[in-house]
Amino acid sequence: MPRFVFATFNPGKLREVAGILDGLPVQVVGPRDVGLLTVPPEDGDTFLDNAVIKAVHAWTRTGLPALADDSGLVVEALDGAPGVHSARFAGEAQDDAANIDKLVDALRGVADRRARFVCCAVCILGPEWATGRIPETSGEVRLIAGHPGVPEGCHLLAAHGEVAGRIIDQPMGTDGFGYDPVFFLDELGRTFAQLGRDEKNGLSHRGRAFRALRQALEGMLAP
Ligand code: IMP
Repeated sequence: MPRFVFATFNPGKLREVAGILDGLPVQVVGPRDVGLLTVPPEDGDTFLDNAVIKAVHAWTRTGLPALADDSGLVVEALDGAPGVHSARFAGEAQDDAANIDKLVDALRGVADRRARFVCCAVCILGPEWATGRIPETSGEVRLIAGHPGVPEGCHLLAAHGEVAGRIIDQPMGTDGFGYDPVFFLDELGRTFAQLGRDEKNGLSHRGRAFRALRQALEGMLAP
């Protein structure tokens, strides 16, 4: 079975995505499994740019098809902030509690609480892969030719996933990570931090993006 490297050092994410891709005729491995120990600077302007930076870094160093994602919280009343800066919204320490405090402060007295978690999941395939069976666009997935930063001849598959909610003032729940305790889903009456892992994965931006990517890869890899 061909190995696909998922460019993340977050073991929870690796497990989650390996689970979503389970059953495809590929083996999903982490960077350490293939001797990749470095991370590139994530200095792109968009989620897609950052996901591509991570995947290209992994492909260039391992020669294996590379998966990566980039995600964050987009708040309407803050013109899309924290966006690609979600992890470092309150500083380089990447402190979840400080990020939440800063967000809640920024929205104090603001009526519009709408926010979305957004994820861009990508797969870079070397020139030897035949992507002819993947339509240029299908649902949430695009086969993109000529994206800046993608080596000549490589194929880029990109999938978008998002989930809409609203930001509350008082954190609720202890599961999850990041902004989960203040991301409230009206239809469930709970925050992301009050959902079990499987329930969150079923709804989440990352789950949606990787399930879409899986569909495209299924078509390509079918015998
Ligand atoms: P990453 O690109 O998945 O590493 O996410 C960047 C940042 O976005 C994280 O450090 C979190 O602050 C935020 N984030 C992304 N996904 C989630 C989520 O599912 N729940 C809460 N915060 C998230």
